[in-house]
Parts: sequence; C-alpha cells; structure tokens
Amino acid sequence: MYIWKNKTIHLLIIWLLIIPPVIIYLAVHHWPSHLDWLYFIIIILLSFLSALFPVNLNGKPVYLTLWITVPAFLLYGLLIEIIAMQVIVWTILFSNRKQKFEASKFLFATLVFFFISLVSAATFHLVGGEIGMMDFWPLVAAVIVYQLTQRIMYILIYSVYYKIRKRLQNSFFRWILIETMIIFLISPFILTLYFLLNFIGVGSFLLLGIPFFFLVSVIRRYTNTKKINQALEQASAIGQRISHNTTENAVIDEFVESVARMFEADFTYLYDYSEDWLEPLRIFENGQFQKLETKQLVLSESITDALLKEKKSFIYTKRNDWADLSEDYSHPGMESMFAIPILRDQEVTGVLAVASKRKNAFEKYQLQIADILCSYFTVSVIRTRSVERTIKQSERCGLTSLYNYNYLEERLMFEFNRFKQGNIDALTVLMLDIDYFKNVNDTYGHESGNEILIELAKLLESRTPQNGIVGRYGGEEFVYILPNFSKEEGMQFGELVRKMIEAYQFTVTQDLGRLGKAIDVSITVSIGVSTIPEDTDELNSLVRNADRALYLGAKRAGRNRVASYIK
Ligand code: GH3
Ligand code: MG
Ligand code: MG
Repeated sequence: MYIWKNKTIHLLIIWLLIIPPVIIYLAVHHWPSHLDWLYFIIIILLSFLSALFPVNLNGKPVYLTLWITVPAFLLYGLLIEIIAMQVIVWTILFSNRKQKFEASKFLFATLVFFFISLVSAATFHLVGGEIGMMDFWPLVAAVIVYQLTQRIMYILIYSVYYKIRKRLQNSFFRWILIETMIIFLISPFILTLYFLLNFIGVGSFLLLGIPFFFLVSVIRRYTNTKKINQALEQASAIGQRISHNTTENAVIDEFVESVARMFEADFTYLYDYSEDWLEPLRIFENGQFQKLETKQLVLSESITDALLKEKKSFIYTKRNDWADLSEDYSHPGMESMFAIPILRDQEVTGVLAVASKRKNAFEKYQLQIADILCSYFTVSVIRTRSVERTIKQSERCGLTSLYNYNYLEERLMFEFNRFKQGNIDALTVLMLDIDYFKNVNDTYGHESGNEILIELAKLLESRTPQNGIVGRYGGEEFVYILPNFSKEEGMQFGELVRKMIEAYQFTVTQDLGRLGKAIDVSITVSIGVSTIPEDTDELNSLVRNADRALYLGAKRAGRNRVASYIK
C-alpha cells in the first residue's frame, strides 16, 4: 500500500533496534514500584483523547498533551511517559486526516519524541528530581528543567531537520514561541493534577479532566466559528473581485481559479448545463487551465442525476467512496471531492466539481461557502452578459450582425494609428457593393433582399483574413479592413471574394409569389480597393478612394469586377 523506500527501511531498522529494546529494558529493570493499572489505563485514554482533539491556533493544530504525560512521568517515571508519548504520536499521525500517512515521517517522529523523553528524564534526575517526590519547590524546579529540556531538544532537532530539508522558515520559530508559551501556561495544571492525584487519587482525573476537555471543546467551537467567518469573508472578497470583470469569459476564469485557490483544490471543473446537456466549460488541474478536449472528470449518472434533478450537493472524503460511481474518467490521483449544482432562479444552470489529491480535504461547511461563491458567480455572469449584449448591439448591425458603420469608423482610426506608430506596414480597405440589388428587391421582394444580405454577411465573415474585419457600411455596401495587406494583396483577396460570390447560390424563401418556397438566386458584387501608403497617407481619403475605385473603376466599367484606385 505504502511505498517503503530505502530511507524508510533504514528508519525502521533504527526504530526496531532502539525503541522495543529500551522499553523492554525499562520494563524489566525500572518497572514503576507501585503502578496502579486503573491510573495507567486512564493515562493512556486521556493521552489518546488529548491527541485526538487538538485546538486550532492560526490554522495550526496545537496538541495539549503535556498535562497528562508530565504527571504520568512524575508518578511512574520514564517507562509510562514513553508509552503515553508513543500513543500520542501514533494518534496524531493517524488522525491527521489532511496529510497522507508517510511511514518515514511517522518513524522519525516516534524516534524524536522517544529521544526527547530519555534526555529530559535524565536532566530531571540530574537537578534532583525524583519519581514520586512531594516537596513543592524542588519539584517545581525539576519540572521546569524537564520541560525546558523537552523544548530545547525539540527546537534543535526540528530546526536541523528542516534545515537539511531546506524548509526552515521564520514561521517555525514564531510558532515555537507560541507553543512554548502555551506549554508554560498549562504547567500549573500539570503540577495541580500531580498533587491532586497524590492526595485524592483517581477522582482528580475527573476533577481536572472535565474542565480541561470542556475548555478544549469551547476553544474548538470558537475556532471553528472563526474558520467559517474567515471563509465567508474570503468568499465575499472573491465575489467582489469576480464582479469587476467585464466579460463573461474573464468572470468564468477568475471564478474557477479563485475556487481552486480557496479550497486548495488540485482539480476544479466547471460545467454548463442546458437542454439536458452537461458541457465542460473549464478544466483547471494542478494550477493550470487544460484544453477542454483533454480528459476530464466524468461524473456518473447517479451523481449527476442527484445534482441536476434533486439539486443536491455531495461530498466524498476518499476515492473508494466514489470510484465505483465514476464511469469513464477521473484523474488517478483524485481522492476527496465535492460537487454542487449552480442554480439560477431555482433552475440548475451548471455544476461545480472540486477535487483534491488528499483524503478528507474538504469539510461540509465548505459546500455552503462554495454555494455562496456560485451565487456571486451567477450574478456576475448575468451582469457581464447584459453588458456584452449592449456593447455588441452598439457595435453591430441588427440585420446581419456584422460590425456597423460606427464600429468600422472607429476601427479604421485604430488601425490608422497603428500604421502611424509603425506597428503595421500597410492598411487596405475593400469596399463592396452588390450589383443591381434594386432588381433583386423588385423581383423577389424586400424580405428576400434581406435574406440575401444576411447570407452574404455570413459568407463575407467566413472569409475574413486573420486580423482583418468585415462590416456593413450601409445598405448593400460592405467594407473589409485589412491591416498589413499591400495593394497587390488587397486586389488578390478582392478577386477571390468576387469570384466566390459570383459562384455562390443564395437561397430566398420569402419570394413574393411563392411564399415559403426556396429558390436560388445569384448575385455579383463590384469592389473598390485602396491602400495606405500606396494610394494615400490620410485616413479620410483612404475610404473615399475605395469608394471612387468602386464606382469609377468597377461599376462604370461593367460591374462584377475589382478595381483599384488610380490617381
Ligand atoms: P448598382 O449598385 O449595381 O449600381 O445597382 P443597385 O441596384 O444595387 O443600386 P444602388 O446601389 O443605388 O441601390 C441599392 C439598393 O439596395 C437600394 C435598396 O433598395 C437596396 N437596399 C439597401 N439596403 C437594403 C436593405 O437593408 N434591405 C434590402 N432588401 N434592400 C436594401
Ligand atoms: Mg449601393
Ligand atoms: Mg448596388
């Protein structure tokens, strides 16, 4: 199951060579003189519970276990303390649900704490401490030395360890300081428990244990609330941020990235849901957007049914819980995940799925936070959609959806400036006018004329060269703006367009006489071409020249041809 690397095997050998023999040695030669088995069981149980319920400080777990291990040491000596300590280390490592269990880390930690126990017991005795002693001040002094030794050894060993692994940060020392303060704060508790045990016996475990765990549970509850509040604040900041985007795409990108960051997710998927169809919008894996064609999470029918029909979220803590349910593909490293439906007016419009390589990476409350994020997201999408629509309407022609006159003028100005700044070498304009369009209207009706305009617009748009644009200049006149096209290239392109239209069969269905029946219509166009810098270096004359080329060069010469401006 776990990969036992070389390093782990070495550590295991060291562990086996040290810990069991020392424990056996201590058990044989230093068995506590009057061990009470009830006390022993209670000590092990409380060690286990204290390790199981850490309190949270700045997002890090603090294990308040000394209040039980130190009295255990003072009562019964090293052997019982070591056993309690091993129970604690095992509990911490196995119950830390966010981290993957690593055998080497575990062995190293048990060795470290074992070693610390040995050395601090030695210094305790060195300063006159004795197991079972009852003289108050000497005991206080010995306990202080005992704990200082523990602390110093801990700091030394772990700073060397982190240094070697190049992970030593200032936060480590800040953290040590906080931990040390907490340890000295519970020291009176340690001594109280020890003396009480001596005076009133087993009841002292209850007397101090009950308030202790009550306090821990209050602190845990408080930090939990704090955690949720922080998450809410974070969610609202994300909501603010995504609402500042002006396009739907930017909103979607920022939303997906923010979700991944906030939940520390390795995999984030956003699906669009419309007309009974779930379509991936974004795949964000390991900090990067992936192409949509690449393999993506495929949710099983049972999961999607619950999401889409019952609008239910779900959360899984590990792969085994959902692997059977996922049909086609999921990233092999994926462990925990959750998914929620994105709602708008009580209708499902999408699905957000978030997954991690870690087990138990997500907590239930995060579903609600994700839900809030999704509402922010929906609102932002709706807003940008309406903004985009308005912008589009002001730029586009209502009939053909091509750029309109205003936009063409603006765009010409923009490209002209680019030319002046030396960003492009040439700027060519093509002006197209349908030949005898009045006749088309007269023969098939104005509606049919419109149909042809729409179809022609599509045709022209589909042929737009890269970086170029096409727009409807007015009536049945169209303009191509072609940056970096020389006059020669413009003429060639014009010829291509002309031929394409000449050969194309337009279809009209609104014919006056035979309503609803499709008929084919052919048209031709005349085209005028003008280029900066060949023909002029002014923007105004660029369009005027194209117009003149169209009427004088192409129309007058017989139509269905391409003409360039001649000075
Ligand atoms: P040519 O350009 O070859 O000289 O002949 P033409 O018949 O196309 O003449 P002209 O360009 O002067 O006339 C344009 C005609 O296009 C007039 C108008 O009926 C028609 N037209 C302009 N805008 C629209 C429109 O939006 N829909 C329809 N159906 N027809 C339009
Ligand atoms: Mg015209
Ligand atoms: Mg015309």
